[in-house]
Amino acid sequence: THSNIAAACQALSHLDLDTNPNVLRQKSRDFFWYSPVLKARLDEVCGDFVVSPRNEAEVIEVLRTCYAHDVAVTVRGAGTGNYGQAMPLAGGCVMHMQNMAQIKEISTGRVVVEPGCLLKDIDLACREESGQELRMISSTWSTATIGGYIAGGSGGIGSVHWGSLRDFGNILRIRVITMEKEPRVMDITGADMARVSHAYGTNGIITEIEMPLAPAYEWCDVFLAFDTFEDAMACADDVAHEDGILLKLASVFEAPTAHAYFKRVQPYVSAGTHLVGLMVAPQSMDGFLAFLEANAPSARLIYRSDQSDWARSPGHVFEYSWNHTTLRALKVDPSITYLQIRFAGDEKRAQVETMRRKFEGEVITHLEVTREHGRPIFTGLSMVKFTSEARLDEIVAAHEEIGAMIFNPHRYTLEEGGRQSTDERQLKFKAEADPKGLLNPGKMISWHDPDWTYDEMYSFPDMQQRRSS
Ligand code: FAD
Repeated sequence: THSNIAAACQALSHLDLDTNPNVLRQKSRDFFWYSPVLKARLDEVCGDFVVSPRNEAEVIEVLRTCYAHDVAVTVRGAGTGNYGQAMPLAGGCVMHMQNMAQIKEISTGRVVVEPGCLLKDIDLACREESGQELRMISSTWSTATIGGYIAGGSGGIGSVHWGSLRDFGNILRIRVITMEKEPRVMDITGADMARVSHAYGTNGIITEIEMPLAPAYEWCDVFLAFDTFEDAMACADDVAHEDGILLKLASVFEAPTAHAYFKRVQPYVSAGTHLVGLMVAPQSMDGFLAFLEANAPSARLIYRSDQSDWARSPGHVFEYSWNHTTLRALKVDPSITYLQIRFAGDEKRAQVETMRRKFEGEVITHLEVTREHGRPIFTGLSMVKFTSEARLDEIVAAHEEIGAMIFNPHRYTLEEGGRQSTDERQLKFKAEADPKGLLNPGKMISWHDPDWTYDEMYSFPDMQQRRSS
């Protein structure tokens, strides 16, 4: 089948539609360039038109029209995803959710929103109206949409207490529209959630989301300095095991991260300082200080946001965490890229130490403590000084050899960025919801090539480059 872009554009011309080449190029990109591997492959990817529906009826109209004309549709929230998730590999329609940003209902423990709403705006509204906030947020809180977070994110600030987005109960309901001759509206809850959450918009367009809420606090931001990495890692892990201390964030940054990349922290640390960043509930601060005295005597409390004497505020501690660590490092050293690693079980600290020693000077360890089935584990977002793709693959392989799991951020497919296996639930749902395979093509390998073995990087054969007209 051949897509008829001109006919689709014509049929949708009464909507908020844009074909300006500069707008097209900008709305066809995300933070893929964090990866030199993806930068080399996706730089010229470009859609044919951008449409921004104002409501669910317009979403349905766009999908019905694009289905009729065989035009691919790739949804875009704010485009802060890191793996080309929102990039239209096969060209076609970029559906931008910016006009659907309403907060519909706030009640005890729940909020109902439209997908284009920013995480920040949800939190501010929930706090003001009900003293509540989202359980977890991405470090891109101020720029990312809730729809993009559900469809492309994994967890973040809050995951030390609440686990990840994929855990039961962390998303309450998603309303999706299918890509069929006559699109259907489906409300997905409970066990079915795994069919559409974290699917990069490959099997339905999300038009409404219901999320669970937690009490909002004036979280106290804390930085602790350590002379040894072991002490820093142990402190973050141990405090996350304290059931009586409420945390929203526990991050570990190996030296020289704080001194080399965190400008506003630099005057208070040395090149050899290992840093721990925390968000502690204000009522937990006394218990936290008692914990430090008893269990982490080598920790130096260099910053607490409620009693700071720093000349310049460092801003939110969470904007040093998760992928913001990489962002800050990249601004100083453009050769830096990163890996995402799961270190879990009784061996997790030993595994981190083994990798740290093996790649000293080349990989800088960065850990986020996250809860998994009630137990704190480490989500590693180690920074790597990039030299070549072959060397990056060697570092990945070394982690896998010792039993650490890699979620490769240098791949644009769901499978390679995940557990390198077919997700049968998502694949089955795509067959139902997107029979022509028009939603975000190229992102689900099992749809295009069910026998793929993952021995090498998948390369989508229908990649659409920017037209040079
Ligand atoms: P986009 O990038 O626009 O989209 C993400 C994916 O969702 C795409 O595949 C898109 O097609 C799909 N999508 C968007 N809207 C819809 C919809 N309505 N229906 C169906 N599919 C849809 N991620 C984390 O999980 N935690 C972090 O702490 C974190 N920190 C980050 C820090 C930095 C500096 C950067 C650059 C990225 C970070 N990320 C993190 C990744 C990313 O920012 C988050 O996943 C973010 O929530 C994505 O939101 P977005 O609106 O930008 O989505």
